[in-house]
Amino acid sequence: SDHQLEYPTMPSEMDWSKHYPTYYPTKDAECDKKVEFADIGCGYGGLLIALAPLFPEKLMIGMEIRLKVEEYVYERIKALRLQKPGSYQNVSIMRMNAMKFLPNFFEKGQLTKTFFLFPDPHFKARKHKARIISTTLLAEYAYIMKVGGILYTITDVRDLHEWMVEHLDAHPLFERIPDAECEQDPVVEHVRTATEEGKKVARNEGDKFLACYRRIEDPLE
Ligand code: SAM
Repeated sequence: SDHQLEYPTMPSEMDWSKHYPTYYPTKDAECDKKVEFADIGCGYGGLLIALAPLFPEKLMIGMEIRLKVEEYVYERIKALRLQKPGSYQNVSIMRMNAMKFLPNFFEKGQLTKTFFLFPDPHFKARKHKARIISTTLLAEYAYIMKVGGILYTITDVRDLHEWMVEHLDAHPLFERIPDAECEQDPVVEHVRTATEEGKKVARNEGDKFLACYRRIEDPLE
């Protein structure tokens, strides 16, 4: 259960100083940088740890529900910061339930990249409502994403891939990026290979189904 988890009541209440002290020396410090990348259900953090040095100007956060995993990633980032002073200041991890209160953390249009890498498949039909891509949650992801921002999905489970594609295709604020164009995106190779789950799938010679979507303009706005 997640009743001991803390959520800010609104994005301006969020204390980012615990996550990015270099950029936010205090809770109320003025900072023109905001978190732009979110790895939802980040697991052991491999993706963002690969991306942090490639996008040193971007703040990025992993979101993970399991306490032990969050603690592990926290220690991993702490060690990297000590090993390479000045580096990895732009990456952090928080424990939270991404199915709840995401818009309490991020303002409208804040995120330029969101990642859903090898999410839990929840195979049984009665468990499908627990899937991290759903009509309801897509409305939240669309809200916190910037127009032009990219949502990345990858899974080794064909049925889940088809489910994610079906829901994203049906959503008016997301447009699929053609596969050939995805391959030009330097982030995609890390989406495929940088996470612990992605490495496991590779070891087992499993398939990897990728689908990337662009957040498009709301015609009603
Ligand atoms: N993305 C990572 C990777 O590719 O290695 C982890 C994949 S793992 C199969 C799915 C992760 O999502 C788990 O670490 C799980 O704890 C996390 N998770 C599941 N539901 C979540 C939720 N509602 N909020 C945040 N994290 C969640």
